[in-house]
Amino acid sequence: MENKLHTETLCIQAGYSPESGEPRQIPIIQSTTFKYATSEDMGKLFDLEASGYFYSRLQNPTCDMVAAKIAALEGGTAAMLTGSGQAANFYAMFNIASCGDHIVSSTAIYGGTFNLLAVTMKRMGIEVTFIDPDCTEEELNAAFRENTKLVFGETIANPALNVLDIEKFAKAAHSHGVPLIIDNTFPTPVNCRPIEWGADIVTHSTTKYMDGHGVAVGGCIVDSGKFDWTKYPDKFPGLCTPDDSYHGVTYTERFGLEGAFITKCTAQLMRDLGSIQSPQSAFYLNLGLESLPFRMKQHCANAQAIAEFLSENPKVAWVKYCGLKGDKYYDLAQKYLPNGSCGVISFGLKGGRKAAEVFMKNMKLGAIETHVADSRTCCLHPASATHRQMTDEQLDAAGVGADLIRLSCGLENAEDLIADLKQAIDKV
Ligand SMILES: *Cc1c(COP(=O)(O)O)cnc(C)c1O
Repeated sequence: MENKLHTETLCIQAGYSPESGEPRQIPIIQSTTFKYATSEDMGKLFDLEASGYFYSRLQNPTCDMVAAKIAALEGGTAAMLTGSGQAANFYAMFNIASCGDHIVSSTAIYGGTFNLLAVTMKRMGIEVTFIDPDCTEEELNAAFRENTKLVFGETIANPALNVLDIEKFAKAAHSHGVPLIIDNTFPTPVNCRPIEWGADIVTHSTTKYMDGHGVAVGGCIVDSGKFDWTKYPDKFPGLCTPDDSYHGVTYTERFGLEGAFITKCTAQLMRDLGSIQSPQSAFYLNLGLESLPFRMKQHCANAQAIAEFLSENPKVAWVKYCGLKGDKYYDLAQKYLPNGSCGVISFGLKGGRKAAEVFMKNMKLGAIETHVADSRTCCLHPASATHRQMTDEQLDAAGVGADLIRLSCGLENAEDLIADLKQAIDKV
C-alpha cells in the first residue's frame, strides 16, 4: 500500500506507524543491547528463525524504521542503513563479489568509490573494468567476463555530473546474468527512482541531500527484490547455498528474493565488519527525509537559475548542468530526471586557474568546503584544494580541469546567491 502513496507522504509517514499511546515521532532507541526472557527466545534470533533485536552492531530499531522509509521511497523490498556512503557501496558490492571476481563500473563515479574499487577492493582480489558511461552497447558488453558479478554506476556522477543511461546499463547487466547497482545520492528518490528503470540495488550517501543539513555522515542500501539470484546459483553461491557461518541458512530459501540480499548483508557483513549508523544519526537523517521533496525542489530551482546566469556571463568559459538546454546530458536528464536533477553545477572562468583562485577568494555566501549537497551553498576549486598535488595534465585526464569550480547550490534565496557570484566574478 505504501508504494502507491506519493513521495511527500512517504517522506513523512513511511517506515513507522505507532500503536495507540506510542511516540508519534520515530524514537531514538539508544541501546546497545536488548533483553530476553529465556535463552531459547534469544537462540531463535541467532538462528535467524525469529526476527528481533539483540545487538546494535547488527541491527537497531531506529535505523530499521528509517531504512524502511527509504525502501518505500525507492520502491524496494528491504533496506539497511550504514555508517557512511562508503560503507553502503562497499557492502552492496562485497555482498556478492569476493576474491577472484570481477566488477564492471562506470568511470564517472565519486572519487572515494573509485579508490575503493581501484585500490582497496583490488587488494582483496576483486578486479574492476572501468568503462566510459557514454560508451556504446557493444563496448559495454565487451567489458564483461566469466567472473563478472555486478555492474556499478551513479545516476548523476559526483563531481563529473554525467547522467547515466540506466536502461542501457541494466540491459547489459541482465543479459550477462548480474545485477545493476546504482548510487542514487545526487538525485535522491525524489527526482529519480532507478529501480523503475531496471536497477536492482540502490545505494546512497545519506550524508548529502537526504540529511541535507550537514549534520550526520551515513549511508543506505536498498534492494529491489527483483533480481533472481536462484537463476544463477553458481554465480551467487553466497545467496543460493547454505551459509556455514549462520547454521547452514540459505538466504534465498529462507528470506525469498525480497529479503535475501539485505539479510545476508546484515547477518554477515554488519556482523563481521560493523559499520552501522548510530540511532542518533538515523534520527537526524529522518528529520532530513521529512522535508526532502521541498528542499530538492528549491536546490534544483536555485541551480537552474544560477546555471542560466553563469551561461550568460561573458567572463564564464563554460557551464555544466544537465538542466541547461544544450548540455551534453540534457536529453538523458529529460528522460530520467524530468522534475529536476540536483543542486550541483560545475563551471570554468575565462582565465583558468588564476581566475578561479580570485573568484574563490571573493565568494561570501558560498563557503569553501569539500562537502556538497546540503542547505548551505558551498564551492570548491579542486585544482587548488583537494587535487592540488596534480599537474594540469593529470587534472585534465581526471576530468577535473585546472579551471573547474564545483558549486553546490543551497537553499538560500537565488537572487542573493546570484548577486554574490556576480561580485566575485567581477573581481576577476
Ligand atoms: C559522498 C558520496 C559518497 C560517499 O559517501 P560518504 O557518506 O561520504 O561516505 C558516495 N557516493 C557519492 C555519489 C557521494 O556523493
